[in-house]
Amino acid sequence: MVTILDTRKAGPQPRHPEKAHRPDTPVQKKPSWIRVKAGGSKEYARTREIVRTNGLNTVCEEAGCPNIAECWEKRHATMMIMGDTCTRACSFCNVRTGLPDALDANEPARVADAVAQLGLEHVVITSVDRDDLPDGGAQHFADVINAIRRQAPKTTIEILTPDFLRKEGALEIVVEAKPDVFNHNLETVPGLYLKIRPGARYFHSLRLLQRVKELDPAMFTKSGIMVGLGEDREQVLQLMDDLRSANVDFLTIGQYLQPTRKHAEVKRYVTPEEFSSFERTARTKGFLLVSSSPLTRSSYHAGEDFERLRAARQQQLGS
Ligand code: SF4
Repeated sequence: MVTILDTRKAGPQPRHPEKAHRPDTPVQKKPSWIRVKAGGSKEYARTREIVRTNGLNTVCEEAGCPNIAECWEKRHATMMIMGDTCTRACSFCNVRTGLPDALDANEPARVADAVAQLGLEHVVITSVDRDDLPDGGAQHFADVINAIRRQAPKTTIEILTPDFLRKEGALEIVVEAKPDVFNHNLETVPGLYLKIRPGARYFHSLRLLQRVKELDPAMFTKSGIMVGLGEDREQVLQLMDDLRSANVDFLTIGQYLQPTRKHAEVKRYVTPEEFSSFERTARTKGFLLVSSSPLTRSSYHAGEDFERLRAARQQQLGS
């Protein structure tokens, strides 16, 4: 049995205490189409330096994202706000779990400084889940958006939020801050929620996305799922219909990769052809944009995709 240790905090602490007692899950050999590029370029090092000197966390590192070399070379780092410790314990996720520290009131200014230093045209801000806070961290999200607007007014802002489950009024606070793109991931099909996303509710997440559009019809909405967790094609197609019923504009689909042997197992590697087929089908269902490939992640190529999203809406309005 392997216990996952993280030595960054005082004394060795299990990174996922709730998973430490679980039996190891089987690991499948990665197929040829899952290629991870090694980092090490000058630009990569510069991105890391800006992240470190501003004392920030990134989901790129915390989630062990396979695209980090490519993204950081282009200075595209996705900031993860409100600490490095999540109050949920999803079985797919590599972010540390446990009791988080208090919110850092200076973090919005540091995020904004980093965005300006990186010279980003488009930034993605995500967070850990903060069920311990009365508003789930909604005001902190708004503070970060406002700080970026002041410091880097030309940068477009995409947020990837938790579900704010049972936090009355939280969503409204975030929408009021007017991010350009509101992303909330469904992560998987409803039948797998208990196993993969036990602290969340599928229909709550769906309703959250629908509510964003009701509050601000001009705001782009986006959601993503991982495949390879045991879902079948029909379930994925149903999920697409559910998202379209909630007026979601942009869908991302990527291969689930198992962070450690204590996490949910990869049931299968979905082929690139199947990803293309998902993309074609999703487009016929009316999404403005679909990104579907083995290494697609919520924030992968987010800047370019935002431009495509805007162009697709313009075309739709003009037609
Ligand atoms: S895909 Fe997103 S999370 Fe992964 S390295 Fe790129 S910006 Fe970071």
